[in-house]
Amino acid sequence: MVTSVMPTYGRIDIAFERGEGPYLYTTDGRRFLDFATGIATNSLGHAHPRLTKAIAEQAGRLMHVSNLYRIPEQERLADRLVATSFADTVFFCNSGAESLEGSIKVARRYQFHIGQPQRTKIICCTHSFHGRTMATLSATDKEAYREGFGPRVQGFSHVAFGNLNEMRAAVDDETAAILVEPVQGEGGVNVAPLAYLQALREIADEFGLLLIFDEVQCGMGRTGKLWAHEWAGIAPDILASAKGLGGGFPVGAVLASEKAASGMKPGLHGSTYGGNPLAMTAANTVLDVVLEPGFLEHVDRTARYFWDKLAPLPKRFPGVIADARGAGLLLGVKCVVPNGDLQTRLREDHNLLTVGAADNALRILPPLIIETSHVDEAMAGIEAACVGLARHAA
Ligand SMILES: *Cc1c(COP(=O)(O)O)cnc(C)c1O
Repeated sequence: MVTSVMPTYGRIDIAFERGEGPYLYTTDGRRFLDFATGIATNSLGHAHPRLTKAIAEQAGRLMHVSNLYRIPEQERLADRLVATSFADTVFFCNSGAESLEGSIKVARRYQFHIGQPQRTKIICCTHSFHGRTMATLSATDKEAYREGFGPRVQGFSHVAFGNLNEMRAAVDDETAAILVEPVQGEGGVNVAPLAYLQALREIADEFGLLLIFDEVQCGMGRTGKLWAHEWAGIAPDILASAKGLGGGFPVGAVLASEKAASGMKPGLHGSTYGGNPLAMTAANTVLDVVLEPGFLEHVDRTARYFWDKLAPLPKRFPGVIADARGAGLLLGVKCVVPNGDLQTRLREDHNLLTVGAADNALRILPPLIIETSHVDEAMAGIEAACVGLARHAA
């Protein structure tokens, strides 16, 4: 008999009842160090006092009014995202997939608007993940996710991640945009070289394409800059954000330059919930914390400390870890043993939560508020798990 919750997930048999900072507590009283963060989403950890207070107070005042009216909290967040990024304008939605849907619509509408209506195709990358809606499934490079769900949404192709020759060769006179994750998460923690991102900017400019970055997972401070592409010193035309943006509250955003958004006008896109006062208060509060002087520097420092401990693991445990990867606090290891074995040992023996990824990788996604002591605690568990698995493999 089917479960009352539709069986779309393979779930781990643990339930949590509360969290505090980087820790989660189960209903039966066990404590876990949460380096999964609801898949890179609880950017400020759990029960962050400022975030919980702001959400509670806003809920007591006003949750939702719809976009029939002006929403001051939405205007404030848009102003701040514009002031701190390449963007000139922002559309708010409720999830990562919706932020990609919006990005695709903005890009196609731009080409239509400038008199190039045949330019509708989006070039994506291998190992990409952009969401589970019909269009974002077509943008995602995983056939298994599409099987049985009918015809693909037309206009999406895939070229090897990191390969500029393939990208150039894929451009034709029907291409509207390039869509890339500066750091792929689901796809196995694959970091785009900065020179690759810079060259994508040049290709887009050369051929009149828009450059879309999917920063749903790697953005909002996770790499030690507000947006991951900032490391490359270039800007996209459109950026999709979600996950860490709300610190656990569902919210997504499409950031766009004035040029990229020039085709958009009232009535062309919308969302009932998108940008409601409660979601905007959550995101404004996350932004308050992330933009505080020193916060991103702290993320960068902590990430480098973590990397120095993670990087030697492949040499120390060649039978367990193939390589260490990542940028900022979007870290991972490619495993030699099945990644699920390492994930299970970390969870069951060392009370450390991590997330699997493609390419037999394991993602390490701590909240951005961790201290080096939490890194040490996690590393003790990771090293002990590696010792155990190496002994088992030998
Ligand atoms: C999670 C994710 C998405 C989809 O976000 P949802 O909120 O699950 O719809 C899209 N792109 C990337 C890079 C992601 O990591």
